[in-house]
Amino acid sequence: APGLYLVATPIGNLEDITLRALRVLRQADRIACEDTRTTSKLLHHYAIETPTISYHLFNEQSRTAELIADLQAGAKIAIVSDAGTPGIADPGAPLVVAAVAAGIDVFPIPGPNAALSALIASGLPAESFTFHGFLPSKSGQRRSQLESLPRGPITHIFYESPHRILETLADISSIFTPSQPVVLARELTKLHEEFLRLPVSEALASLAARPQVRGEFVLLLHLPIAVGTAEVRPQTIAQAVKALMKL
Ligand code: SAM
Repeated sequence: APGLYLVATPIGNLEDITLRALRVLRQADRIACEDTRTTSKLLHHYAIETPTISYHLFNEQSRTAELIADLQAGAKIAIVSDAGTPGIADPGAPLVVAAVAAGIDVFPIPGPNAALSALIASGLPAESFTFHGFLPSKSGQRRSQLESLPRGPITHIFYESPHRILETLADISSIFTPSQPVVLARELTKLHEEFLRLPVSEALASLAARPQVRGEFVLLLHLPIAVGTAEVRPQTIAQAVKALMKL
């Protein structure tokens, strides 16, 4: 059917793409890509020859108008980002808003997402969570966002770059406590996939000891909860989970 298809693509492992996603990409009139070079590797791997055009933060506005005109004329347009689910810390949202406003059908084609992949394997409670995307790059703003995070049975999920992960962990250690548990999910679905489930000070030490901090990170945080008047500051994630179960 004509319309806008939001197609999730792999976050590392090329096998992580659904049969439906491949069919939609093959049958679309055009694929709007965050980066046509990145997507062409995926398309080449699956021998898909659909024409691509760029759709990124810097041409979002002009492209949206152009793509909406195509969609109104009955085109099938797929949108993909460099990795994972379009619109999640990635371009896509303005086009969806415009398509919905124009009465165009919008179809989600579900698949990989780094935040949910990290959450389900983190060992932290997954019933209730908040996804924050990237923390601000400016230290003051980052610290105030961390300080104002709600405490309680919610798992907080952040995206973080290898350049900033040490600073962010240092902020968490000073704002909460060095023993605050964190989970870091690095290089999900890739060869060097790694989970660090440690007090923040130990996670920081472990990364700082490496010759170079590499890879993409998802950072998960479950904050101490107030029991009566005393605040619980658990030493380990196991204790944090135990404390939660008692409530
Ligand atoms: N749209 C993507 C999704 O659905 O997950 C997210 C795109 S965002 C621009 C990129 C960030 O996602 C990275 O900086 C990292 O925090 C996270 N990420 C993406 N792929 C990852 C992976 N394989 N392992 C760990 N984190 C990843």
